[in-house]
Amino acid sequence: MSTEMEDLDAFRARARAFATANLRPAKRRLTVGLLRNARTDEEELAEVAREREVQRMLFDADLAGICVPTTYGGQGLSPAHQRVLNEELSDREYPERFQSPTFAPILAVLLEFGSEEQKLRHVPAILKGDEIWMQFLSEPSGGSDVAAALTTAVRDGDEWVLNGSKVWTTGAWWSDWGLCLARTNWDVPKHRGLTVFLLPIDREGIEVHRIEMLNGSKEFCQEFLSDVRVPDADRVGEVDQGWTVGTRWMVHERMGKNSPFVTVPVGNTGTEGASTPVHAIAAKAGRTDDPRAQDLVGEAQMLELVGDALKRRVGKGIMTRTMSDQSSAVIRLFAGRAMVRKTTIAFDLAGATGAAWIDDDDDLVEVGNDYLMRQISCIGGGTTEMAANVISERVLGMPRERTLDKDVPFRDVPRVAPH
Ligand SMILES: Cc1cc2nc3c(=O)[nH]c(=O)nc-3n(C[C@H](O)[C@H](O)[C@H](O)COP(=O)(O)OP(=O)(O)OC[C@H]3O[C@@H](n4cnc5c(N)ncnc54)[C@H](O)[C@@H]3O)c2cc1C
Repeated sequence: MSTEMEDLDAFRARARAFATANLRPAKRRLTVGLLRNARTDEEELAEVAREREVQRMLFDADLAGICVPTTYGGQGLSPAHQRVLNEELSDREYPERFQSPTFAPILAVLLEFGSEEQKLRHVPAILKGDEIWMQFLSEPSGGSDVAAALTTAVRDGDEWVLNGSKVWTTGAWWSDWGLCLARTNWDVPKHRGLTVFLLPIDREGIEVHRIEMLNGSKEFCQEFLSDVRVPDADRVGEVDQGWTVGTRWMVHERMGKNSPFVTVPVGNTGTEGASTPVHAIAAKAGRTDDPRAQDLVGEAQMLELVGDALKRRVGKGIMTRTMSDQSSAVIRLFAGRAMVRKTTIAFDLAGATGAAWIDDDDDLVEVGNDYLMRQISCIGGGTTEMAANVISERVLGMPRERTLDKDVPFRDVPRVAPH
């Protein structure tokens, strides 16, 4: 195989031909759509199956894992090639459920910290659409302070035995593997006693319970781990050094759609913000001449443009090492707040139809749902408050927040439900 990187124009032609011949038009949908009660389980499973199929088609066409090294089944190309693919997939279906968290942060973490054997086993399987991964991070005791994990792994010969509970994993019931942060040492301060493991979700001892939300959605899951046995070969990184992995894991998570491993078709409103562009909502609501509506449309457009520029600027800064990798928190904070504002603007523009609609209202029916779900963008993937902390403390070097558990063995840290 030639070591020369494929020319961008040739790559574009190849990607375009593939998309035209194989991919269906995109269905309009928000990421938070995963948490709507709009589909039956059968429909959800059929969508998951189709996304696995599309991922496999991309793999067979040498269009999967654009920035993943060829050794692990990827294309070994550049972020510029990934951007071209994003453009050529515009308004086409794509394997949305694979992007987060399977490609980023999990595939990124595997590439950075996985053993050679783990990478060879899992990365090609992910790229072929055979493995969908979930993050086993948040626990019932809290999600922001990830390093305070209570789920415990105890060594038993060549195996580990895991007990505890993880929660808020979206879609764990149709996923294959989990990347799990667990406590392996209670006698050292919290950040020094963690280890990361690979868990097949159907392993004996893992019970996946679906959480029913007020709107009827059952996509969020809670997992109960009872004496789950994990071979030491499925440990990622060194024992008790899980926070080294965890810190980078959070960076990759905050990069989100800006990660070079993620495919996000350009112009696919289903992934970027309100379900329908706000100018279209203003038009449907008959408000294009209304000066107040024009102000709101302008504001939404500004947020869109600033968000795009920020992603490019910070992404480049991190890649070229002119910015700290912790700067991914800037993108995360802006994206969360901008999403809330954009969905609020859409709701305002839609007028009464945003709150009560008939089927003929078509696109506008989603506006009220988007508005009700808007806060999700400030919570999922770590809260915007935590992103603000990272920016002040780790990017700008301001004093660290006062904590009472830093130098104390984790066992002695007071907690509501003692272990
Ligand atoms: C759509 C969605 C998908 C998700 N998917 C997953 C998943 O796949 N896997 C997974 O493990 N988790 C997942 N989560 C859970 C998510 O990571 C947590 O909800 C989030 O990290 C916050 O944790 P918490 O809900 O326990 O809130 P808490 O940690 O209890 O925080 C409560 C509030 O206090 C604030 N707060 C806490 N500490 C501080 C501080 N030091 N400074 C300032 N404010 C603070 C928080 O910002 C928040 O507003 C998902 C959540 C959502 C909404």
